[in-house]
Amino acid sequence: MARRQTPPLAFLLGTLAGLLVPRPSPAQGAPVPTAVIGATLWDGTGAGTVPGATVIVEGGHISCAGAALHCPIPPEAVVVDAAGRFLIPGLIDTHVHLLFPSAGPEDTVLDADLSDLLARGVTTVRDMGNDPVRLREAVAAAPLAPRVLAMQLVAGARFFSQERERFSNGRSRLHAPAAMGMRQLGWSPLMFTTASRAAELVRVARGGGAIGIKLYQDLDAAQVAAMVLAAHQAGLPVWGHAWVQPASVLEQSRAGQDGVVHAAGLVGELLDRTARDSLRGSIALLQLTADSATIAAAGDPRILATLDTMAARGTFLEPTLHATQICAARANSRNRPLPTLPDRYARAASAFGIAVTREAARRGVPLTAGTDHTASGPPAERAQLADELRLLVDSAGLAPVQALFAATRDAARAIGPAARDVGTITPGKRADLVLLAADPLGDIRNVGRVEWVMLAGVVYRPADLRRTGTGGPD
Ligand SMILES: [Zn+2]
Repeated sequence: MARRQTPPLAFLLGTLAGLLVPRPSPAQGAPVPTAVIGATLWDGTGAGTVPGATVIVEGGHISCAGAALHCPIPPEAVVVDAAGRFLIPGLIDTHVHLLFPSAGPEDTVLDADLSDLLARGVTTVRDMGNDPVRLREAVAAAPLAPRVLAMQLVAGARFFSQERERFSNGRSRLHAPAAMGMRQLGWSPLMFTTASRAAELVRVARGGGAIGIKLYQDLDAAQVAAMVLAAHQAGLPVWGHAWVQPASVLEQSRAGQDGVVHAAGLVGELLDRTARDSLRGSIALLQLTADSATIAAAGDPRILATLDTMAARGTFLEPTLHATQICAARANSRNRPLPTLPDRYARAASAFGIAVTREAARRGVPLTAGTDHTASGPPAERAQLADELRLLVDSAGLAPVQALFAATRDAARAIGPAARDVGTITPGKRADLVLLAADPLGDIRNVGRVEWVMLAGVVYRPADLRRTGTGGPD
């Protein structure tokens, strides 16, 4: 077939001022098609890889993907030679936190973090704790960003009131409302009051631009069920912390919740309802995990029953292994003769979370590779998707292809309708692609070897993206 001479890649690079679609062709008034040729294609659908593939991109969307013979190159197309490389769907991180007090129109740290995510091949993120309106404004002000989808936090009434924590020695301490700390981050949790007002909360969430509900804390099984009913009627998925206290993960799954976050949270399944309801305060919860979350406990029949229910009902688990590993590594580096409670907690949560994830994968629980990445704090302590995938393979026993699904096709399913147009390289999907220097199916670490990332049809190279960062991650 006829092929135009391949232009230098620089020709295709979007301007870093935020050019998000290919320039219109002066001749036709339509975007110039792009043909990416020669790469080994892993399209994320479950089909085998296609060597020497062609992917045609038109108007920011994929119009054809597959064997070269099946995708003729339009004569006017710009051709990108990707021979010897590996083409995968744009990566999706289903658990980030981008909004912090400094995040706003002047926030160069957020801008640099967004560019860095793109440089790592992450083209869609779901923000699991934020203020949807403020988040949208902050991202819109950034020069360049992955697609950012916001969840709306919801918690029970107790989360919004003062609480007295009682210690075993008879002392007690009065805590400010937990919601206050969250609001200081610039996040905006909504208060669940009665089941009859659940639909109103969903309307507020949608009005703010949220694409789903994230249940945080202080909700019982009936309240979870009420939120699920109201949200599903409006077409919004419902996720929640593993556990939302007093509701257990088992109750969340039975109530129809779409997914739970943090594998380490399944330690709550070891408690009865009274304990789940009465265990209050950060110290008591740290203590529970530090003491009970052992590798052996991950095989407890109560946890296995919950995982089996999740598998049967299709409830997603988002393990967030890298974030807990970072905390455990910090604890290990301190190497105190007598570890503190937070150190013991961090080590237990990391090892237990991995063991739970391993069981979940074995039992067919759908997994998504959210990280709990934050756009704030030391860059080395920000969880990253490539590391999450490495842990899913090396520690939790997934095959590299399963880990890739958890960051592409299955991540899009986990997000729901708002991510319907991403996750696979198939006609009609948004042209979000990542070109890797080496095969990620052979070694999952190759997910970190990004040559370029295409966002809605425009190609960016990591070095260019990072050069624009000011003071962010390196
Ligand atoms: Zn989080």
